[in-house]
Amino acid sequence: MHEILENFGPGQRILDLGSGAGSFPSSFGPFIAIRADLDHPSTPAQNFAQADAARLPFADRAFDAVISNHSLEHFHDLAGSLSEIGRVLKPTGALYISVPDASTFADRLYRWLARGGGHVNPFTSAQGLAATIERATHLRHVQTRTLCAALSYLNRRNPRICGPRRFLLVGGGTEFSLHLFTYFARLSDRLFGTRLGVYGWALYFGNFPVAVDNDIWSNVCIRCGSGAQSEWLRHVNAVRRRFFLQVYRCPSCGTSNLFSEDRHYRRLSDVRAQRPGKPQGYN
Ligand SMILES: [Zn+2]
Repeated sequence: MHEILENFGPGQRILDLGSGAGSFPSSFGPFIAIRADLDHPSTPAQNFAQADAARLPFADRAFDAVISNHSLEHFHDLAGSLSEIGRVLKPTGALYISVPDASTFADRLYRWLARGGGHVNPFTSAQGLAATIERATHLRHVQTRTLCAALSYLNRRNPRICGPRRFLLVGGGTEFSLHLFTYFARLSDRLFGTRLGVYGWALYFGNFPVAVDNDIWSNVCIRCGSGAQSEWLRHVNAVRRRFFLQVYRCPSCGTSNLFSEDRHYRRLSDVRAQRPGKPQGYN
């Protein structure tokens, strides 16, 4: 998402849809960020509009970009919401949508723990979803990227998503148990292509001034869920050896995480053959 936001300047308007107080900080760029969600956020948010995604209170072509970060799976009126995104976005605009793949272990576990977790749209095909969004918004599909999971929703430092019994069954949310999962999921994915460490997809539509990176980022923080490119982590000397493991500190929250090379996981990206883009930038 950040590689998109970097392209917008003063006076340009970005709609951050369905992410409460926001899926990126207001200080990120010089553009104007408008947040819209059905529920009022628990923390104060600037430029917030309480609204149904299927009935947005904005004029036609009001935005230069729309960000829907892990929110589309929650929209009850999916067709109406996509139609509204197409209406409020300029024809020259950009659209970023990230969703969980409902067939993955990470999303199945989340839905079991949180008794559905509000995921009313179980997407299982990136290509099918991209075609649906293209038809509804009339924006061209540019790129799809596979996202990795770290089960940060289990971390006991984050808000609890389930009752104590189910929570204990999955390790009690300790960071040690999340490190163990990460280690064995990556090992299994690398050796057997199991996709235990896959979460979902990020889909890009519309107009982008630079090519969008479609490479898989396997390093995802067990606490804040931020992804980082392995090449970039090495470039900034963030990787350290601890006993027989390699670890890095999350650039966003400082948590220590197990490190992995992205190149070992590229075969997990089931969409690499689609419209490949030139890699660029870092998160
Ligand atoms: Zn982090």
